[in-house]
Formats: sequence, C-alpha cells, structure tokens
Amino acid sequence: MNKKIGFIGAGKMAQAMLEGILKSKMIPKENIIASAKTEGTLEKIESNYQIRTTQNNQDVARFADILILAVKPDQHSNVIQEIKNNVHSDSIIITIAAGITLDDIEREFGINVKAVRTMPNTPSFVGEGMTAICSNERLNEEEVLEVELLFHTFGKTERLDERLMDAVPAISGSSPAYVYMMIEAMADGGVKQGIPRDKAYRLAAQAVLGAAKMVLETDRHPGELKDNVCTPGGATIEAVAELEKRQFRGSVLAAMESCTRKVKSLQ
Ligand code: NAD
Repeated sequence: MNKKIGFIGAGKMAQAMLEGILKSKMIPKENIIASAKTEGTLEKIESNYQIRTTQNNQDVARFADILILAVKPDQHSNVIQEIKNNVHSDSIIITIAAGITLDDIEREFGINVKAVRTMPNTPSFVGEGMTAICSNERLNEEEVLEVELLFHTFGKTERLDERLMDAVPAISGSSPAYVYMMIEAMADGGVKQGIPRDKAYRLAAQAVLGAAKMVLETDRHPGELKDNVCTPGGATIEAVAELEKRQFRGSVLAAMESCTRKVKSLQ
C-alpha cells in the first residue's frame, strides 16, 4: 500500500495494531510514524518497531495520508484542536476511541474530513483482532476498502451502521478481558485438581480458541455445539447446570450492558 500511516497515541491498542501492520510488510517502516506524550513510550516504540516517533502531533498530521487517533476518548478533542490545521484535505482520519462519533470528528475538525470510526481489540497483537468499522460519506468505496485492507493486517473487520457502534466495545473491544477472566478461572479450576499451572493455562486457552473456531468455521449454532459436548447424564451437563444456576449468561449480559452504558456516557 503506497500510503503513509500516522498514529497519534502509541499505547496498548496502537502497539497491537502496529505489530500486525509491520509483520504484514504491507507498509514500509519509513512510511509509519507515531506520537506519544512520554519519552519512555517513544523509546519503547523505536526499539520494538524501528519506526519514526515524535512528541509533536502536528508532525504526524502533516506526514500521514491515513491518520489514526489512538488516544483515550478524553484526549480526543484536544488532539483534534491541536492538529486540525495540519491534516491534508484528502487524508483519512480514523478514530479507535470508544464513544467518539463521526459527527464528533466532523464537528471538531470543522471541515469536510474523511472520517472513519472503528473499534478494534488487543488480540490484534497476534493477528487475531476484530474491528468494527463505519465511515462518513466522504470516503468512496475504494478508500473504505483501503482502510479494511490496513485493518486486515491484524485481524478481521465487520462493517456496521454507526448507530450500532456503541455496542461494539462490550462484544469485541472489551470482551477479551472477560474471556481472560474465564481462562484464568478455568486454569484455577484445573490447578485445584492438581494440573500444573502452565499446563492449565495452555489447556484452558486452547479450548477457548478451539471453541471460537468451531463457531466461526462450522457455521453451527453455539447452542448446538454446546449440546454436542453434553452427554446425557454426563459430566459436562453437570457443569452447564451449575453455570445456569449461577446465572453465567445473565452475568455476561449484565456486564455488557454496563460496558455499553459507560461507552454512551463518554459522549
Ligand atoms: P493507552 O493509555 O495505552 O494509550 C494512550 C496513548 O496516548 C499513550 O501512548 C499516551 O502517551 C498517548 N497520549 C495521551 N495523550 C496524548 C496526546 N495529547 N497526544 C499524543 N499522545 C497522547 O490506551 P489504549 O488502551 O491504547 O487506548 C487508546 C484508545 O484505544 C482509547 O480511545 C480506547 O477507547 C481505544 N481502544 C482500546 C482498546 C483496548 O483494549 N485497550 C480496544 C479498543 C479501542
């Protein structure tokens, strides 16, 4: 891809995306720049990725054809005020911040920017990210495909109507956190029965990975896949019954509602 990429903010999410972009070799290192507030972060980025770094966000805005705003939602507005006179007229502006809308970006820039709202997740670090994407009408189809191509270097993408974007952190942006909790709990359960800790993590994590692949690749309903594991009168249905008694599904739904409420409150 013959485009220059700029990251404003080089924290956990930006680094996860950088991993995939650089591994894919789709963009040469010299065409990527990242800014952050602290010297420590910039040194880490330079040593891990050998890309250009700066503390000056305006340099990033001037350099980039595709500019990724990877700061926390509360920094978003400040950053746009800082850089709005430095972006090129045909640059594509991508936000990854929870709760920031296309309207927010257009209003803050005050000009006709090409705006893309995305919600990626940290498994991008290992090339298994999931990113929901929507864009304003100033991007043509070719430009949206270009953004998708970039995001495909670290995982999969799904286009969504903007009205659904606030629901995405709960289902794929933040959900790795709850899955890690599940893996940790499963490993603890294994350790309680005497399985060594390192083996317990591998057993639990591979089971979760395999279950997710079954859903994605067999196209079978998760309920059917669950039924297939449950031998009548067997051990699995004992575990399922216990989870139902303790409102496993209800707890997940309630957690997701809480997450979405918080996202909406960020606006
Ligand atoms: P983080 O705290 O790890 O990184 C934020 C980065 O922004 C840091 O490098 C910091 O130095 C930099 N920064 C802060 N103010 C700045 C400024 N004014 N100019 C330039 N850089 C500045 O946070 P994160 O987890 O990477 O989250 C970043 C964004 O990604 C958030 O908006 C979040 O909603 C979104 N996001 C995060 C995840 C996740 O799992 N972490 C998932 C999806 C989306």
